[in-house]
Amino acid sequence: MTLTTDACPCGRTGRRGALQAYADCCGRYLDHWDSTPAPDAESLMRSRYTAFVLRRADYLQATWHPGTRPAQLELDAGARWLGLEVRQHRSTGPGQAEVEFVARYRLAGRAVRLHERSRFVCEAGRWLYVDGDIR
Ligand SMILES: [Zn+2]
Repeated sequence: MTLTTDACPCGRTGRRGALQAYADCCGRYLDHWDSTPAPDAESLMRSRYTAFVLRRADYLQATWHPGTRPAQLELDAGARWLGLEVRQHRSTGPGQAEVEFVARYRLAGRAVRLHERSRFVCEAGRWLYVDGDIR
């Protein structure tokens, strides 16, 4: 698959409801995270979902707050991600935000629905994932 022109796995739509291309959406952050950090918590959350789809553990680690980041990240090779729905994105204070989302995937033939409210902080101009509550 040619990722640059394909629709972004996160499913973000632009004007007129067209799906955004990976290169114009999460690809900007996944492939250039050192120079182009995600500009807000929702964009970071979407790009982290896309990183799970593309099995980019390096990006997941880079966007995880050092205080909660796991020492090692094992991505399940068998998971097939089916879609992301962002329910809510709200500021919870200066440099803090919450994003509520539902992500669906298939693992060993079972459909899994992950409903989480994630917390993010912005430090030195970069949004970072802190932790989340499974709902
Ligand atoms: Zn995207």
